[in-house]
Amino acid sequence: MTPPASHDIDPRTAEIAAGLRAVRERITAACRAAGRDPGEVRLLPVTKTFPAEDVARLVDLGLTEFGENRDQEAGAKTAELARLRPDATVRWHMVGRLQRNKARHVVRWAGMVQSVDSPRLATALERAVASARAAGERTEPPLDVLVQASLDADPTRGGCPLPDLPELADQIASSSELRLRGVMAVAPLGADPDDAFSTLAQAVDLLRKDHPAATELSAGMSGDLEQAIAHGSTWVRVGTALLGGRRLASP
Ligand SMILES: *Cc1c(COP(=O)(O)O)cnc(C)c1O
Repeated sequence: MTPPASHDIDPRTAEIAAGLRAVRERITAACRAAGRDPGEVRLLPVTKTFPAEDVARLVDLGLTEFGENRDQEAGAKTAELARLRPDATVRWHMVGRLQRNKARHVVRWAGMVQSVDSPRLATALERAVASARAAGERTEPPLDVLVQASLDADPTRGGCPLPDLPELADQIASSSELRLRGVMAVAPLGADPDDAFSTLAQAVDLLRKDHPAATELSAGMSGDLEQAIAHGSTWVRVGTALLGGRRLASP
C-alpha cells in the first residue's frame, strides 16, 4: 500500500494519526515500566461505531488488524473496507458477545474470535467453520480463537467463569477446526483493573501449563492498558483513545 501523499491528509486522518502516536507512546511507556519489550504488545484498534472510512485511514497509517464487537455492523464494514482498500490485507477480530446463531456469519469475516466463552459457542463455531469449508467458502487454516475469561462472575457481561476455563480451553484445543491462541478479558466496571488483571494473569499461567501454544493475552482498553501490560497483555484493544477524540485537544 502506498500511503497518500501528505497534501491528501484530511483533518480526520491527522486526528487519528495523533491518537495513534499517543496510544503507541502509552504502550511503549507501559512496557518500559513493566520491563517488557514493546514488540511483545500489539495494538488492536476497535473500530465499532466508526465508519469504514476511518478503518481505511488506519490502513493508510499502516495498521492491518481491527476489532469489532457486533456481527451485523462488522459484516457490512468489512465489505465496505474491501471496496475502499481492495489491495489491503486486513484481519478482523470479533471481540464482542456472540450469539450462537451468528457463528456461521462471523466465520465469514473474522480471522480471530476473541470472545468464546462457552462450550456451546465453541461447538457452534466449530460447526460453522466445518460447513464453510465444506461449502468451499473457507480454505484458511483453523479459526483462531481466544477464550474470554470473566473477571466479575457477572453472566450478563460475557466471559467464562475462571473455574470453567480449563475445560473450555481443552474443548477448543481438541477441535480440528479451531485453534486456541490464548485468553481475552475485560476488566470489570468499577473494579481496580490492577487486581482484575492480576487474577487474570494467574488463570493464564495455569492455562498455559496445559496449553503452551496459547500465548496470547488480549487485555487492556483505552482506560486500563497500562495495568494490562503490567500483567502480561500481548494485545491491547483500543477504541476511544484512538478514534473517539475525547482525549485529543480540540482544533
Ligand atoms: C469497545 C471495546 C474495546 C475498546 O474500548 P475503549 O475503551 O473504547 O478503548 C475493547 N474491547 C471490547 C471487547 C470492546 O467492546
